[in-house]
Amino acid sequence: MFGPTVDNLVAQLTRLPGIGTRTAQRLAFHLLSVSKEEAAALATAIVDAKERVRFCRECGNLTEEEVCGICRDARRDQHVICVVEQPVDVVSLERTAEYRGLYHVLGGSLSPLDGVEPEHLRIDELFRRVERNGISEVVLAMNPNMTGEATAAYLADRLRNRVRVTRLASGLPVGGDLEYADEITLGRALSGRREM
Ligand SMILES: [Zn+2]
Repeated sequence: MFGPTVDNLVAQLTRLPGIGTRTAQRLAFHLLSVSKEEAAALATAIVDAKERVRFCRECGNLTEEEVCGICRDARRDQHVICVVEQPVDVVSLERTAEYRGLYHVLGGSLSPLDGVEPEHLRIDELFRRVERNGISEVVLAMNPNMTGEATAAYLADRLRNRVRVTRLASGLPVGGDLEYADEITLGRALSGRREM
């Protein structure tokens, strides 16, 4: 209706998670109404982030260095690894201030129906870290939904004989994402973690 350029902008925005056509249209019209500088600042921020930000060589978290700030922090407990699905989960767990160990970011959860198999996640890297670094405990902090549960079960099966495996205590909203759990609930789930 507004020409191919606007259609393309809307189509690109629709590809973002949680953005439907109506929201994409509203965002597109907003971007067209602001100054050229303001719209360019957003475009530049996206390009800069894609150029400079990468995955930590050790844990898979986002970083602008080779190794992220958490992995480089010598005050953290180097013998405990908390396994999460996405970098955003690291942010949620750090906010609780309950956890002082390291992380491992898988990059998703196992979902054979969607074609996500173990080799598509940073699972081998996790096993290597556990072997190599004298890890004493692995805390599984997958999202409390179906693919998260399946991933936790898969990892627990393979790690159980090598290292202590725990998971977050219940109390987290089932079917939800860690990202949306409040700090107190998540902090309690961490401190009350149990053997798996
Ligand atoms: Zn790291």
